[in-house]
Amino acid sequence: MVQEEDTVIFQPRLIKEDDIYGKNGYTLNLIKPNVYQFYSGGAGSHVYLIIGENLNVLIDTGIITKFNSLNYLLTTEIGLKVEDIGLVINTHEHFDHISSNAYFHCPIAAHRWAAIKIQHTDELITKGKKWGVDLSNMKINIWLEDRNIIDIGNVLLKIIETPGHTSGCICIYEPYLQYIFTGDTLFKEATTNIYESGSISEYIDSLEVLNTLRINSFYPSHGDLVLGQKNVKKQIDYSIENAKKELNAFINRLKSKSIDGVRPPPSLYRREEEDL
Ligand SMILES: [Zn+2]
Repeated sequence: MVQEEDTVIFQPRLIKEDDIYGKNGYTLNLIKPNVYQFYSGGAGSHVYLIIGENLNVLIDTGIITKFNSLNYLLTTEIGLKVEDIGLVINTHEHFDHISSNAYFHCPIAAHRWAAIKIQHTDELITKGKKWGVDLSNMKINIWLEDRNIIDIGNVLLKIIETPGHTSGCICIYEPYLQYIFTGDTLFKEATTNIYESGSISEYIDSLEVLNTLRINSFYPSHGDLVLGQKNVKKQIDYSIENAKKELNAFINRLKSKSIDGVRPPPSLYRREEEDL
């Protein structure tokens, strides 16, 4: 087995900051050969582009107010047009990751729990209305499941179901090159928030699944990326620990109510005492 010290870690390098749009734009970084990061310093998620031999894939489309910056950097610095993107994969259903989907005419993919909320314009979950972004009439063309693999030629993209932050969260793993796009599931030195449709215990389980993978670097949707197996594992363990503490603190805040002799509903009762 290759030891970590022998593994050559590709160091990201800055391509360009979008000075046309100032602080409202993205910073473009080359993070691996053929993988670009559109880094969002403020509102909205980062966007990633993988240049495949057979297909160019965009991971998330980011917030709509930054689409001009995305388009500018894509055309002037990378030399691709919007039409050259062959597939968009949304990491989950939140508005800051999906709201530029409408600019892309290629198939859009998301986990089926994310697809359902997006197609029902479920504003409770997507948060579009809360932040003034119209997400109506959006379509998800490919509904993803755990362990689906998308082969784009030089790169394999394996879908890892990671519910927790929301129910429709996925991470996208390259099993040979061993890097992973973690969406809002794993950050550097920050543990994610659990939003509507999400679950802390599912989140802990998802992180434990990530801990079974060999990961050389991870690329989150917010904040800084993390390089090196030991550093990756440290961040996963840190989030597991925080999430467990949060779960316990939440349970301790819950107050039990006296039932006052009222029989609880059968689903909450001991089943063997029910006439089932
Ligand atoms: Zn999110």
